[in-house]
Amino acid sequence: MITMGIDIGSAASKAVIMEDGVRILAKGVRSFGIGTSGPVEVYETVLKKAGVAREKIDCLMATGYGRTGFAEADCQASELSCHGKGMSFLIPGIRTVIDIGGQDAKVMEINERGALLKFVMNDKCAAGTGRFLEVMAKVLGMNVEMLGEVSRGSAKELNISNVCTVFAESEVISHLASQETVPDVVAGIHRSVAKRVVGLGSRIGFKPDIAISGGVALNEGVVYAIEKEIKCRIRTHPDAQLAGACGAAILAYEKTAK
Ligand code: ADP
Repeated sequence: MITMGIDIGSAASKAVIMEDGVRILAKGVRSFGIGTSGPVEVYETVLKKAGVAREKIDCLMATGYGRTGFAEADCQASELSCHGKGMSFLIPGIRTVIDIGGQDAKVMEINERGALLKFVMNDKCAAGTGRFLEVMAKVLGMNVEMLGEVSRGSAKELNISNVCTVFAESEVISHLASQETVPDVVAGIHRSVAKRVVGLGSRIGFKPDIAISGGVALNEGVVYAIEKEIKCRIRTHPDAQLAGACGAAILAYEKTAK
């Protein structure tokens, strides 16, 4: 059976085509989310990559912020169900998933099959999300993809104490004006995200093994900062940004196979 999962987020669109819910046939990411051409582009790209026509997809499940507006979808599921399922497929045995996306952050406890048991979420404030990192990268005149590598050069613990993104932006500018180094400032930005996310997750606890999903999982500096904050190893995967789409493809398989 062939299924597709599409995850339409605020910052990016991700899609995965799977066979029998266990083998990835094609995957794709576009750095544009809801309200752009990103969802249709990534959908068409993965169909082409897998060499299958839409009619051959037994079930297409949409997830993410824009899941209800995707006309090609057969059904929808929440990101909470999909991220746990997808991450548990990518890294079997994990019990906690930290998902940091473009506009929210979630910490989820899952069971051995990837089903959601508990969760906490911040979707009210940009602090501790990908959006915060994007704003800070812009202030520093770099792409968000560069932050992780730049932070490797940090030699000093610098704190960004303001939680509000607008005030934190001014704080970053003021650190630069005080001759603090860019790597130290970037590491401080990562520490600020880590503190927010660990504070959020401590409400339900972090049951090992812990993994990180969402686009921010690709930022090694944030992963390192969370590990230091939580004092525990965090597992990740090269396809961590695709966890929601993978989970949707697996849930589509489970639903259709019933
Ligand atoms: P959403 O599902 O809300 O659209 P994603 O889970 O796709 O969000 O994550 C988007 C965020 O991931 C961006 O805001 C950015 O901070 C981060 N990101 C995306 N790609 C990369 C990358 N290559 N390196 C570092 N960070 C990235």
